[in-house]
Amino acid sequence: MRKRVLITGAAGFLGSHLCDRFIAEGFHVIGMDNLITGSLANIEHLFHLEQFEFYNHDVTTFVHVSGELDYILHFASPASPIDYLKIPIQTLKVGSLGTHNLLGLAKVKNARFLIASTSEIYGDPLVHPQDEDYYGNVNTIGPRGVYDEAKRFQESITMAYHRFHGMETRIVRIFNTYGPRMRLNDGRVIPAFMGQALRGEDLTIFGNGLQTRSFCYVDDQVEGIYRLLLSDYALPVNIGNPDEITIKDFAEEIIKLTGTAQKVVYNELPADDPLQRQPDISKANAILGWEPKIDRSEGMKKTFDYFRNLSKEQLYKSEHKDFSKHIRK
Ligand code: NAD
Ligand code: UDP
Repeated sequence: MRKRVLITGAAGFLGSHLCDRFIAEGFHVIGMDNLITGSLANIEHLFHLEQFEFYNHDVTTFVHVSGELDYILHFASPASPIDYLKIPIQTLKVGSLGTHNLLGLAKVKNARFLIASTSEIYGDPLVHPQDEDYYGNVNTIGPRGVYDEAKRFQESITMAYHRFHGMETRIVRIFNTYGPRMRLNDGRVIPAFMGQALRGEDLTIFGNGLQTRSFCYVDDQVEGIYRLLLSDYALPVNIGNPDEITIKDFAEEIIKLTGTAQKVVYNELPADDPLQRQPDISKANAILGWEPKIDRSEGMKKTFDYFRNLSKEQLYKSEHKDFSKHIRK
């Protein structure tokens, strides 16, 4: 009998790569997504498989899945700052009510539960690099608070179910991850720069570009998540690539990679945009024997190949996704 795993956010960037990995490992995969930021195009290659099912469902309402479940991976949530600014209430609900529903499901199914937490729980960090013992520096009422606090609540309720109900739970703190299937117009820096370079537009740097990020290629991220799920470790684990770069230098790398003659232009820095971010991955290394294998130049080449093969129509349909049908007035 195949092990059965429920993956929420399956039609999104990370969720779809996780579906691929679990199918390849011989699991029966049940994908669930309400398509608010995701797209069926990310998983349509799986639809013909007997070991794949998909449910179009909003996990902030009661979640029913028939049959047994061995694992639940809760990845449903808007993840780009522009998305969660546009749909702040959905973001709060999917991290809180959605996580509660899925923990309830995991409890009745006796399934191991893993949540996609984030480096955002460290806020604009005062400790560098960020290790798992750092409590963070989050502005609860700032624009990013809807995401950061939902994720912090998600960690708390998961630990409460672990301690109170003795459930098997895992918490991965994901640092900026990139690769094929990111949405071109989700506003995150890599699709933004790729789209701008391919359309011949200037690259928009927010602030003075001296803020840093550390970008992890998706295959490395999926490997870390897979190892954590199968480990016996319940406390949070950072998974990310510690290779840190300023956004300004990163823009220069993109210009070289894409071979375009674009300039950079400077726009205002969004509120509470973290000034530096780099994961301390010693715990992942010690507990999971994990470290990233794909460096930025290799990962960015694969990512550029994906974006440059998008159709002209996709490339120029650069306006942001329409969320109106998901919003109750
Ligand atoms: P994404 O937007 O591509 O995927 C999220 C998916 O969740 C989408 O398909 C969306 O339609 C779905 N979704 C949202 N609300 C839902 C709901 N109520 N019910 C059902 N489905 C819903 O984003 P991603 O980058 O793939 O992120 C996936 C997860 O990983 C998120 O939880 C995010 O917080 C976390 N994460 C990602 C990163 C990163 O760098 N990509 C970093 C930190 C954390
Ligand atoms: N950024 C930028 N130009 C863009 C998009 C983003 O300079 O067109 C910056 C953003 O201000 C942040 C960094 O790039 O400092 C990473 O942004 P992203 O939205 O990818 O993720 P974050 O790490 O902030 O969640």
